[in-house]
Amino acid sequence: MRCALLSVALVAAIAVGSAASPSTAAVRWQWPTVGDHRVDRGFAPPLDAYGAGHRGVDLRAMTGSAVSLVAAGTVSYVGSIDGVAMITIDHGDERSTYQPVLATVSRGERVESGEVIGRLLRTGSHCSPHACLHLGRKRGETYLDPLALLQLPARARLIDPFGALPRAASSSMVNGILLRPTSGEVSSPFGMRRHPLTGEVKLHDGTDFATACGTPVQAAAAGRVVRTYEDKDYGKRVFIDHGIWQGRRIVTIYNHLSSDNVRVGQRVNTGQLIARVGTTGLSTGCHLHFMVERNGTAVDPAPLVR
Ligand SMILES: [Zn+2]
Ligand SMILES: [Zn+2]
Repeated sequence: MRCALLSVALVAAIAVGSAASPSTAAVRWQWPTVGDHRVDRGFAPPLDAYGAGHRGVDLRAMTGSAVSLVAAGTVSYVGSIDGVAMITIDHGDERSTYQPVLATVSRGERVESGEVIGRLLRTGSHCSPHACLHLGRKRGETYLDPLALLQLPARARLIDPFGALPRAASSSMVNGILLRPTSGEVSSPFGMRRHPLTGEVKLHDGTDFATACGTPVQAAAAGRVVRTYEDKDYGKRVFIDHGIWQGRRIVTIYNHLSSDNVRVGQRVNTGQLIARVGTTGLSTGCHLHFMVERNGTAVDPAPLVR
């Protein structure tokens, strides 16, 4: 029954994916400001061309700080609109806009990703009395959400990275056959989502626990380490085979690790320290992406974790 449900979910996923992202290139944008990556105001597109809304995102930064380019492109506009200094960069099929910014580049110039294009001004700030960068993203005359392409910061909670793990929460969930593998809040559950880095809509095949890099990761159940390697997307990974449960082979996978303490073939006990949280691979910050495979298919870990 679960398998049937999962197949339906995957078919739905493919349909949603193709409908929601028409030829959106999987471009990653670099964060254009320095500092703590605080988003003061998110994207809220207007209902029509003249409606009220917020056609970009506001990124908090210091007055006078450097503003750098999110992706390589050509400067297509430098000037001011309604007294607000602004820069527009052409990336091909999309453009990025920056305001209020005192430009250090000029029109027609080719600029590489990460290069400084200007300094942040306070006059015209959307975060008055503070300074912030209003970053816009346009395709033709349509405004899009810059955060879909921007590399997001970690939502890490500050805890002692080498301190004791909290007691496993008692079962509000049924089926709790697995120990919670690390501390931290669930920052992203299993299911369909838009990938924070690539903008692609697809199945998020595990549960994310947001916690500091270096936090201990423990085996969710007794088993044997069957694989450890470094993947370009999942980063450093550890696979533990727990044998056959209810007729199906259960494997837990721990991803984006900073380090591991185990070797292939090693037996581990429930709760044994096997690794530490990291942000290796395609990751937005320190977190554990925890996966459960049942006969090789990823299933939602949430109901299984006690
Ligand atoms: Zn704004
Ligand atoms: Zn994840």
